[in-house]
Amino acid sequence: MKKIILIKYGELFTKKGNRKAFINKLQSNICHKLKELDVKIKNNRSFMQLEFNDKDLEEIKKRLSKIFGIHAYQVASVVDTNIKSIEEEIIKISKEKEFKTFKVETKRSYKEFELNSMQLSKYLGGVILKNNENIKVDVKTPDILFKVEVKKDNSYIYTDTYKGLGGYPVGSQPKGMLMLSGGIDSPVAGFLSLKRGIIIDAVYFEAIPHTSLEAREKVIKLAEKLVEYTNEIKLHIIPFTNIQEEIYKNCNPDYTITIMRRMMYRIMESLAKKNNAFVIINGESIGQVASQTLTSMSVINEVTNMPVIRPVACLDKLEIMDIAKKIDTYETSILPYEDCCTVFVPRHPVINPKLEIAKTEEEKFDYKTLINKAVEDSFIIEIKDKKEKKFEELL
Ligand code: ATP
Ligand code: MG
Repeated sequence: MKKIILIKYGELFTKKGNRKAFINKLQSNICHKLKELDVKIKNNRSFMQLEFNDKDLEEIKKRLSKIFGIHAYQVASVVDTNIKSIEEEIIKISKEKEFKTFKVETKRSYKEFELNSMQLSKYLGGVILKNNENIKVDVKTPDILFKVEVKKDNSYIYTDTYKGLGGYPVGSQPKGMLMLSGGIDSPVAGFLSLKRGIIIDAVYFEAIPHTSLEAREKVIKLAEKLVEYTNEIKLHIIPFTNIQEEIYKNCNPDYTITIMRRMMYRIMESLAKKNNAFVIINGESIGQVASQTLTSMSVINEVTNMPVIRPVACLDKLEIMDIAKKIDTYETSILPYEDCCTVFVPRHPVINPKLEIAKTEEEKFDYKTLINKAVEDSFIIEIKDKKEKKFEELL
Protein backbone atom coordinates (compact mmCIF):
# COMPACT_ATOMS: atom_id res chain seq x y z
CA MET A 1 0.00 0.00 0.00
CA LYS A 2 1.30 3.38 -0.96
CA LYS A 3 1.62 5.97 1.81
CA ILE A 4 2.01 9.63 1.12
CA ILE A 5 2.19 12.80 3.16
CA LEU A 6 -0.66 15.25 2.73
CA ILE A 7 0.36 18.82 3.45
CA LYS A 8 -2.43 21.30 4.23
CA TYR A 9 -1.96 25.04 3.74
CA GLY A 10 -4.59 26.38 6.13
CA GLU A 11 -4.54 30.15 6.17
CA LEU A 12 -2.87 30.34 2.75
CA PHE A 13 -5.96 28.89 1.27
CA THR A 14 -7.88 32.09 1.99
CA LYS A 15 -5.46 34.26 -0.01
CA LYS A 16 -7.39 34.25 -3.23
CA GLY A 17 -5.35 36.63 -5.39
CA ASN A 18 -1.88 35.38 -4.68
CA ARG A 19 -2.58 31.89 -3.45
CA LYS A 20 -0.76 30.30 -6.34
CA ALA A 21 2.42 32.28 -5.69
CA PHE A 22 2.26 31.35 -2.00
CA ILE A 23 1.82 27.67 -2.77
CA ASN A 24 4.69 27.71 -5.23
CA LYS A 25 6.89 29.41 -2.66
CA LEU A 26 5.92 26.82 -0.06
CA GLN A 27 6.68 24.03 -2.48
CA SER A 28 10.12 25.40 -3.28
CA ASN A 29 10.87 25.84 0.45
CA ILE A 30 9.84 22.24 1.14
CA CYS A 31 11.99 21.04 -1.78
CA HIS A 32 14.92 23.01 -0.41
CA LYS A 33 14.60 21.53 3.07
CA LEU A 34 14.19 17.98 1.80
CA LYS A 35 16.55 18.24 -1.12
CA GLU A 36 18.86 15.33 -0.37
CA LEU A 37 16.01 13.00 0.55
CA ASP A 38 14.24 10.81 -1.93
CA VAL A 39 10.90 12.65 -2.21
CA LYS A 40 8.51 13.71 -4.94
CA ILE A 41 6.18 16.66 -4.45
CA LYS A 42 3.02 17.54 -6.31
CA ASN A 43 0.88 20.51 -5.50
CA ASN A 44 -2.84 20.86 -5.75
CA ARG A 45 -5.34 23.63 -5.12
CA SER A 46 -5.90 22.71 -1.51
CA PHE A 47 -3.06 20.41 -0.51
CA MET A 48 0.38 19.15 -1.42
CA GLN A 49 1.20 15.53 -1.87
CA LEU A 50 4.60 14.18 -0.93
CA GLU A 51 5.80 10.74 -2.00
CA PHE A 52 8.61 9.47 0.18
CA ASN A 53 10.81 6.60 1.11
CA ASP A 54 9.74 4.87 4.35
CA LYS A 55 13.16 5.07 5.94
CA ASP A 56 13.09 8.88 5.77
CA LEU A 57 9.69 9.38 7.38
CA GLU A 58 10.87 10.52 10.83
CA GLU A 59 13.44 12.90 9.34
CA ILE A 60 10.84 14.34 6.96
CA LYS A 61 8.42 14.91 9.84
CA LYS A 62 11.11 16.72 11.81
CA ARG A 63 11.87 19.01 8.90
CA LEU A 64 8.23 19.70 8.00
CA SER A 65 7.65 20.80 11.58
CA LYS A 66 9.97 23.76 10.94
CA ILE A 67 8.56 25.03 7.66
CA PHE A 68 6.30 28.08 7.80
CA GLY A 69 3.16 27.94 5.67
CA ILE A 70 2.30 24.37 6.61
CA HIS A 71 -0.89 24.33 8.63
CA ALA A 72 -1.01 20.58 9.22
CA TYR A 73 0.08 17.35 7.62
CA GLN A 74 -0.93 13.71 7.65
CA VAL A 75 0.69 10.44 6.71
CA ALA A 76 -2.07 8.86 4.65
CA SER A 77 -2.80 5.70 2.69
CA VAL A 78 -3.79 6.41 -0.90
CA VAL A 79 -6.35 4.20 -2.59
CA ASP A 80 -8.43 4.38 -5.74
CA THR A 81 -11.73 6.11 -5.18
CA ASN A 82 -14.14 3.16 -4.83
CA ILE A 83 -15.82 1.64 -1.81
CA LYS A 84 -14.01 -1.69 -1.98
CA SER A 85 -10.52 -0.16 -1.93
CA ILE A 86 -11.40 2.27 0.85
CA GLU A 87 -12.98 -0.51 2.88
CA GLU A 88 -10.02 -2.90 2.50
CA GLU A 89 -7.54 -0.25 3.54
CA ILE A 90 -9.50 0.95 6.56
CA ILE A 91 -9.78 -2.65 7.81
CA LYS A 92 -6.05 -3.06 7.43
CA ILE A 93 -5.29 0.14 9.33
CA SER A 94 -7.75 -0.73 12.08
CA LYS A 95 -6.02 -4.06 12.61
CA GLU A 96 -2.63 -2.38 13.01
CA LYS A 97 -3.88 -0.06 15.77
CA GLU A 98 -4.77 -0.61 19.42
CA PHE A 99 -7.98 1.10 20.50
CA LYS A 100 -11.22 0.54 22.34
CA THR A 101 -13.31 3.35 20.89
CA PHE A 102 -13.27 4.98 17.48
CA LYS A 103 -15.00 7.27 15.06
CA VAL A 104 -14.94 7.64 11.27
CA GLU A 105 -15.09 11.06 9.65
CA THR A 106 -15.43 11.54 5.92
CA LYS A 107 -14.80 14.61 3.78
CA ARG A 108 -16.06 14.18 0.25
CA SER A 109 -15.01 16.76 -2.29
CA TYR A 110 -15.91 14.39 -5.15
CA LYS A 111 -19.65 14.89 -5.06
CA GLU A 112 -20.44 12.19 -7.64
CA PHE A 113 -19.29 9.48 -5.26
CA GLU A 114 -22.10 7.00 -4.63
CA LEU A 115 -22.41 7.63 -0.87
CA ASN A 116 -22.44 10.99 0.84
CA SER A 117 -20.06 11.74 3.72
CA MET A 118 -22.44 10.63 6.47
CA GLN A 119 -23.37 7.43 4.66
CA LEU A 120 -19.76 6.50 3.99
CA SER A 121 -18.69 7.20 7.59
CA LYS A 122 -21.54 5.04 8.85
CA TYR A 123 -20.77 2.25 6.41
CA LEU A 124 -17.05 2.22 7.25
CA GLY A 125 -17.85 2.32 10.98
CA GLY A 126 -19.86 -0.87 10.52
CA VAL A 127 -17.01 -2.46 8.59
CA ILE A 128 -14.50 -1.65 11.36
CA LEU A 129 -16.85 -3.01 14.04
CA LYS A 130 -17.27 -6.25 12.11
CA ASN A 131 -13.54 -6.79 11.72
CA ASN A 132 -12.27 -5.98 15.21
CA GLU A 133 -13.27 -7.34 18.60
CA ASN A 134 -14.17 -5.49 21.79
CA ILE A 135 -14.43 -2.04 20.27
CA LYS A 136 -17.22 0.45 20.00
CA VAL A 137 -18.04 3.77 18.41
CA ASP A 138 -17.58 6.94 20.46
CA VAL A 139 -18.31 10.11 18.53
CA LYS A 140 -17.26 12.47 21.34
CA THR A 141 -13.88 11.30 22.62
CA PRO A 142 -12.76 8.34 20.53
CA ASP A 143 -9.35 6.74 21.15
CA ILE A 144 -8.80 6.85 17.44
CA LEU A 145 -10.28 8.89 14.61
CA PHE A 146 -10.26 7.42 11.11
CA LYS A 147 -10.37 10.18 8.56
CA VAL A 148 -11.30 9.56 4.97
CA GLU A 149 -10.97 12.17 2.22
CA VAL A 150 -12.74 11.20 -0.98
CA LYS A 151 -11.44 12.99 -4.05
CA LYS A 152 -12.07 12.26 -7.72
CA ASP A 153 -9.31 9.76 -8.55
CA ASN A 154 -7.81 8.95 -5.21
CA SER A 155 -9.01 8.77 -1.66
CA TYR A 156 -6.90 9.23 1.43
CA ILE A 157 -7.19 7.51 4.79
CA TYR A 158 -5.30 8.51 7.93
CA THR A 159 -5.57 8.54 11.70
CA ASP A 160 -3.09 11.19 12.87
CA THR A 161 -2.83 14.87 12.04
CA TYR A 162 0.41 16.66 12.83
CA LYS A 163 0.22 20.37 13.51
CA GLY A 164 2.47 22.58 11.36
CA LEU A 165 3.91 25.96 12.32
CA GLY A 166 1.32 27.93 10.33
CA GLY A 167 2.28 31.38 9.12
CA TYR A 168 3.31 32.17 5.54
CA PRO A 169 6.11 30.58 3.53
CA VAL A 170 9.39 32.44 3.98
CA GLY A 171 9.94 34.49 0.85
CA SER A 172 6.30 35.42 0.38
CA GLN A 173 7.46 38.82 1.64
CA PRO A 174 10.70 40.54 0.68
CA LYS A 175 13.65 41.07 2.97
CA GLY A 176 13.91 42.68 6.41
CA MET A 177 17.09 43.42 8.38
CA LEU A 178 16.98 41.88 11.84
CA MET A 179 19.03 43.47 14.62
CA LEU A 180 20.31 40.30 16.26
CA SER A 181 21.99 40.68 19.64
CA GLY A 182 22.91 37.83 21.91
CA GLY A 183 19.84 38.42 24.07
CA ILE A 184 16.55 36.58 24.45
CA ASP A 185 14.30 38.98 22.55
CA SER A 186 15.84 39.46 19.14
CA PRO A 187 15.96 35.77 18.07
CA VAL A 188 12.26 35.57 18.99
CA ALA A 189 11.61 38.72 16.92
CA GLY A 190 13.45 37.00 14.05
CA PHE A 191 11.38 33.83 14.39
CA LEU A 192 8.10 35.77 14.42
CA SER A 193 9.02 37.78 11.33
CA LEU A 194 10.02 34.62 9.47
CA LYS A 195 6.57 33.36 10.40
CA ARG A 196 5.03 36.23 8.43
CA GLY A 197 7.03 35.14 5.40
CA ILE A 198 9.77 37.78 5.65
CA ILE A 199 13.23 36.82 4.42
CA ILE A 200 15.79 37.99 6.96
CA ASP A 201 19.36 39.19 6.99
CA ALA A 202 20.74 39.54 10.51
CA VAL A 203 22.95 42.35 11.77
CA TYR A 204 25.18 42.19 14.82
CA PHE A 205 27.00 45.22 16.25
CA GLU A 206 30.17 44.29 18.06
CA ALA A 207 32.66 46.36 20.02
CA ILE A 208 35.85 44.31 20.16
CA PRO A 209 37.88 44.38 22.46
CA HIS A 210 35.12 45.50 24.84
CA THR A 211 33.10 42.52 23.68
CA SER A 212 34.58 39.10 23.05
CA LEU A 213 34.66 36.75 20.10
CA GLU A 214 32.64 34.38 22.27
CA ALA A 215 29.85 36.96 22.18
CA ARG A 216 29.97 36.83 18.36
CA GLU A 217 29.97 33.02 18.45
CA LYS A 218 26.83 33.19 20.54
CA VAL A 219 25.10 35.33 17.91
CA ILE A 220 26.23 32.91 15.20
CA LYS A 221 24.70 30.06 17.21
CA LEU A 222 21.44 31.96 17.50
CA ALA A 223 21.42 32.63 13.77
CA GLU A 224 22.01 28.89 13.23
CA LYS A 225 18.87 28.18 15.25
CA LEU A 226 16.88 30.67 13.18
CA VAL A 227 18.14 29.36 9.86
CA GLU A 228 16.38 26.07 10.57
CA TYR A 229 13.18 27.95 9.71
CA THR A 230 14.47 29.49 6.48
CA ASN A 231 16.88 28.70 3.69
CA GLU A 232 19.84 30.87 4.62
CA ILE A 233 20.69 33.91 6.69
CA LYS A 234 23.39 36.44 5.92
CA LEU A 235 24.78 37.67 9.23
CA HIS A 236 26.36 41.13 8.89
CA ILE A 237 28.97 41.89 11.52
CA ILE A 238 29.35 45.61 12.18
CA PRO A 239 32.52 46.92 13.86
CA PHE A 240 30.97 49.36 16.30
CA THR A 241 33.91 50.05 18.64
CA ASN A 242 34.91 53.49 17.33
CA ILE A 243 31.38 54.80 17.41
CA GLN A 244 30.81 53.48 20.93
CA GLU A 245 34.06 55.01 22.16
CA GLU A 246 33.36 58.39 20.58
CA ILE A 247 29.89 58.50 22.13
CA TYR A 248 31.34 57.57 25.49
CA LYS A 249 34.08 60.22 25.22
CA ASN A 250 31.97 63.10 23.91
CA CYS A 251 28.33 62.83 24.91
CA ASN A 252 26.31 63.38 28.07
CA PRO A 253 26.37 59.96 29.82
CA ASP A 254 22.60 59.97 30.33
CA TYR A 255 22.13 60.15 26.55
CA THR A 256 24.75 57.61 25.46
CA ILE A 257 22.26 54.77 24.99
CA THR A 258 19.80 56.97 23.08
CA ILE A 259 22.58 58.16 20.79
CA MET A 260 24.10 54.72 20.37
CA ARG A 261 20.74 53.39 19.24
CA ARG A 262 20.26 56.29 16.84
CA MET A 263 23.62 55.30 15.34
CA MET A 264 22.52 51.67 15.09
CA TYR A 265 19.31 52.65 13.30
CA ARG A 266 21.25 54.82 10.83
CA ILE A 267 23.56 51.92 10.05
CA MET A 268 20.60 49.58 9.74
CA GLU A 269 18.94 51.85 7.21
CA SER A 270 22.09 52.14 5.16
CA LEU A 271 22.63 48.34 5.18
CA ALA A 272 18.98 47.70 4.38
CA LYS A 273 19.16 49.91 1.30
CA LYS A 274 22.34 48.19 0.14
CA ASN A 275 20.79 44.76 0.56
CA ASN A 276 17.32 45.35 -0.87
CA ALA A 277 15.61 45.14 2.48
CA PHE A 278 12.41 47.09 3.17
CA VAL A 279 12.14 47.06 6.95
CA ILE A 280 14.23 47.01 10.10
CA ILE A 281 13.25 44.34 12.64
CA ASN A 282 14.32 44.25 16.26
CA GLY A 283 13.53 42.78 19.67
CA GLU A 284 12.43 45.97 21.40
CA SER A 285 9.65 45.44 23.90
CA ILE A 286 7.74 48.44 25.21
CA GLY A 287 8.86 49.54 28.64
CA GLN A 288 11.44 46.79 29.11
CA VAL A 289 14.38 49.16 29.62
CA ALA A 290 14.98 52.93 29.48
CA SER A 291 15.67 52.89 25.73
CA GLN A 292 12.35 51.15 25.08
CA THR A 293 9.90 53.61 26.58
CA LEU A 294 7.64 55.13 23.92
CA THR A 295 9.44 58.49 24.20
CA SER A 296 12.82 56.78 23.82
CA MET A 297 11.59 54.79 20.85
CA SER A 298 10.31 57.90 19.12
CA VAL A 299 13.55 59.84 19.65
CA ILE A 300 15.59 56.87 18.42
CA ASN A 301 13.27 56.13 15.51
CA GLU A 302 13.50 59.74 14.34
CA VAL A 303 16.67 59.03 12.32
CA THR A 304 14.90 56.84 9.76
CA ASN A 305 11.76 56.72 7.64
CA MET A 306 12.16 53.03 7.11
CA PRO A 307 9.44 50.98 8.84
CA VAL A 308 10.66 49.35 12.04
CA ILE A 309 8.91 46.09 12.91
CA ARG A 310 8.98 45.10 16.57
CA PRO A 311 7.36 41.66 16.76
CA VAL A 312 7.72 41.37 20.56
CA ALA A 313 6.80 44.98 21.34
CA CYS A 314 3.66 44.04 23.25
CA LEU A 315 4.72 40.73 24.78
CA ASP A 316 5.72 40.22 28.41
CA LYS A 317 9.23 38.97 29.04
CA LEU A 318 7.77 35.65 30.20
CA GLU A 319 5.86 35.26 26.95
CA ILE A 320 9.02 36.03 24.98
CA MET A 321 10.94 33.51 27.06
CA ASP A 322 8.32 30.85 26.36
CA ILE A 323 8.79 31.28 22.62
CA ALA A 324 12.60 31.34 23.05
CA LYS A 325 12.38 27.98 24.82
CA LYS A 326 10.14 26.52 22.13
CA ILE A 327 12.54 27.52 19.35
CA ASP A 328 15.52 26.45 21.44
CA THR A 329 17.33 29.79 21.49
CA TYR A 330 16.83 30.41 25.22
CA GLU A 331 19.74 28.36 26.53
CA THR A 332 22.13 30.07 24.14
CA SER A 333 20.72 33.52 24.86
CA ILE A 334 21.34 33.24 28.60
CA LEU A 335 25.05 32.41 28.19
CA PRO A 336 26.88 35.16 30.05
CA TYR A 337 28.86 37.04 27.36
CA GLU A 338 28.61 40.82 27.36
CA ASP A 339 27.19 42.57 24.35
CA CYS A 340 28.03 46.08 23.26
CA CYS A 341 25.00 47.60 24.99
CA THR A 342 25.75 46.12 28.38
CA VAL A 343 29.43 47.12 28.29
CA PHE A 344 28.70 50.81 27.86
CA VAL A 345 25.55 51.03 29.89
CA PRO A 346 25.34 54.37 31.78
CA ARG A 347 24.31 54.66 35.41
CA HIS A 348 21.26 56.83 34.76
CA PRO A 349 20.05 56.31 31.20
CA VAL A 350 17.43 58.91 30.37
CA ILE A 351 13.90 57.50 30.39
CA ASN A 352 12.23 60.38 28.57
CA PRO A 353 14.91 61.74 26.24
CA LYS A 354 14.43 65.04 24.40
CA LEU A 355 15.05 64.96 20.68
CA GLU A 356 16.80 68.34 20.67
CA ILE A 357 19.27 67.25 23.36
CA ALA A 358 20.00 63.96 21.57
CA LYS A 359 20.69 65.91 18.36
CA THR A 360 22.97 68.43 20.07
CA GLU A 361 24.88 65.71 21.90
CA GLU A 362 25.51 63.59 18.83
CA GLU A 363 26.82 66.58 16.88
CA LYS A 364 29.80 66.56 19.27
CA PHE A 365 31.61 64.02 17.10
CA ASP A 366 31.79 63.27 13.39
CA TYR A 367 29.36 60.38 13.35
CA LYS A 368 28.66 60.47 9.61
CA THR A 369 32.21 59.51 8.71
CA LEU A 370 32.27 56.82 11.39
CA ILE A 371 28.96 55.36 10.24
CA ASN A 372 30.15 55.16 6.64
CA LYS A 373 33.33 53.48 7.79
CA ALA A 374 31.44 50.96 9.95
CA VAL A 375 29.23 50.02 6.98
CA GLU A 376 32.27 49.79 4.71
CA ASP A 377 34.15 47.59 7.16
CA SER A 378 31.23 45.33 7.88
CA PHE A 379 31.46 41.76 6.66
CA ILE A 380 29.08 38.87 6.13
CA ILE A 381 29.00 35.40 7.63
CA GLU A 382 26.77 33.05 5.65
CA ILE A 383 24.64 30.97 7.98
CA LYS A 384 23.35 27.70 6.55
CA ASP A 385 21.17 25.00 7.99
CA LYS A 386 23.47 22.42 9.59
CA LYS A 387 21.59 19.53 8.02
CA GLU A 388 22.15 21.00 4.60
CA LYS A 389 25.77 21.77 5.43
CA LYS A 390 26.34 18.17 6.39
CA PHE A 391 24.91 17.12 3.06
CA GLU A 392 27.17 19.51 1.15
CA GLU A 393 30.19 18.19 2.99
CA LEU A 394 29.32 14.72 1.76
CA LEU A 395 29.45 15.79 -1.88
P1 ATP B 1 17.75 41.11 23.48
O1 ATP B 1 17.37 40.18 24.59
O2 ATP B 1 17.27 40.65 22.16
O3 ATP B 1 19.21 41.48 23.43
P2 ATP B 1 17.39 43.31 25.13
O4 ATP B 1 16.32 43.15 26.10
O5 ATP B 1 18.78 43.04 25.55
O6 ATP B 1 17.02 42.46 23.84
P3 ATP B 1 18.34 45.84 24.17
O7 ATP B 1 19.74 45.41 24.45
O8 ATP B 1 17.90 47.12 24.69
O9 ATP B 1 17.26 44.77 24.60
O10 ATP B 1 18.15 45.88 22.63
C1 ATP B 1 16.92 45.96 22.03
C2 ATP B 1 17.03 45.37 20.65
O11 ATP B 1 18.05 46.08 19.91
C3 ATP B 1 17.50 43.92 20.65
O12 ATP B 1 16.43 43.05 20.83
C4 ATP B 1 18.11 43.83 19.29
O13 ATP B 1 17.12 43.69 18.28
C5 ATP B 1 18.77 45.18 19.12
N1 ATP B 1 20.19 45.13 19.59
C6 ATP B 1 20.69 45.44 20.79
N2 ATP B 1 22.01 45.25 20.82
C7 ATP B 1 22.36 44.79 19.61
C8 ATP B 1 23.60 44.37 19.02
N3 ATP B 1 24.74 44.38 19.67
N4 ATP B 1 23.58 43.94 17.74
C9 ATP B 1 22.42 43.90 17.05
N5 ATP B 1 21.24 44.28 17.55
C10 ATP B 1 21.20 44.72 18.82
MG1 MG C 1 20.54 43.00 24.56
